[in-house]
Amino acid sequence: MEIPTTEEMGMTPRAARAMADRLLAAGFPATDVHVLTLTPRVGNLVARLRGADARTRPILLMAHIDVVPARRDDWSLDPFTLTERDGWFYGRGTTDNKAGAAMLVANFIRLRREGWQPRRDLIIALTGDEETTQASIQWLLKEHRHLVDAEFALNTDSGRIILRGGKPSLFTVQASEKVYADYQLDVRDVGGHSSLARPDNPIYTLAAALQRIAAHQFPLNVTEVARLFFERSARVESGRMAADLRAVAATPPDPQAAARLSKQPFYNARLRTTCVATRVEAGHANNALPQTARAVINCRILPGEPTGPVEAALRRLAGDRVTLTVLSAPQASPSSPLSAAMLARFERLAAVQWPGVPVTPVMEAGATDGMYTRLAGISTYAPSALPEDPDDVRAHGKDERLGVEAFYDATQFWYQTMKAFGAQ
Ligand SMILES: [Zn+2]
Repeated sequence: MEIPTTEEMGMTPRAARAMADRLLAAGFPATDVHVLTLTPRVGNLVARLRGADARTRPILLMAHIDVVPARRDDWSLDPFTLTERDGWFYGRGTTDNKAGAAMLVANFIRLRREGWQPRRDLIIALTGDEETTQASIQWLLKEHRHLVDAEFALNTDSGRIILRGGKPSLFTVQASEKVYADYQLDVRDVGGHSSLARPDNPIYTLAAALQRIAAHQFPLNVTEVARLFFERSARVESGRMAADLRAVAATPPDPQAAARLSKQPFYNARLRTTCVATRVEAGHANNALPQTARAVINCRILPGEPTGPVEAALRRLAGDRVTLTVLSAPQASPSSPLSAAMLARFERLAAVQWPGVPVTPVMEAGATDGMYTRLAGISTYAPSALPEDPDDVRAHGKDERLGVEAFYDATQFWYQTMKAFGAQ
């Protein structure tokens, strides 16, 4: 936990090795525990708990061991010393996603010590670069497919228990992710002396283009995962909010309800593709007409939507004088089909520790390694069972923490999940 696994430190191989040593000490054979280094600074761990029936395809259990940077000066305590205080574990990675890695490894050891054998193989894959390039998961799927191939995957890195007033209100299972894309807008001009002002100036051209993009709303599209999410979220809401959530979950969705919900970024992100300006840079001197103006537009495209029309819309909005280049091309990733039977299995497991809390599939607005397992044909579901307080999200931020009890509850959930899924 305390190995500083930021990209800069390059210590994920050490962390992978440390986890491997625990598994070996618990009796896992060396042939089933693999530390795979993509580069000397990026390490991954893949371990297998052998099942009795080699013909039933394995289940892949996922976490990542790298973390985003944290500076000692920005925190109230040392981000790379695991500190237990007032019922919380503090430290970088406590929620994202070292808790996930710890839960998987601890449960593997527990299952092994109990002498329990699954019907099918269970595989743990801990990756070392999820927060940066996500190259490891792609490499494992491509170059070491036999080690990680599975019928489906369960990821600890997403799908939270949403808290309301400190209490669990919604148990989410992430089943799809938005698709990430970056586009760059450029405007060029010969420039000149700023004493000879002209109305056509790259900054003005770019500003007008950005205003058109800001005013544009991509079409409403309620995906199946979003529809279930709205319907189930309605159960824990009341009044107008509950009615609106039900109305967008209806077929066809109610446009007025969608318009009201779209005013909130959280719901808007789940109703449509979004594109937003994230960077801008222009000019070269205070007393010169600008020769260049440049902006970056970051898009989050709904899974299943074609990406071409998004780029085409940006080109049209930007106008003729603006050049658009693709900085980071969208990689379309499918949603994982969440059958009623699969959802019911998660409901049964969640009901053991969180009775009465509705279980709902959710679409991630960000991105995880699960995008690549889905692309590789492995349906991926993320029921982390870790809590998230929407008013106090600390992942990637200051004083990241996880409730001690919540950690052990989630570990128990994953123990039951591994047993239930592994037995089938
Ligand atoms: Zn993560």
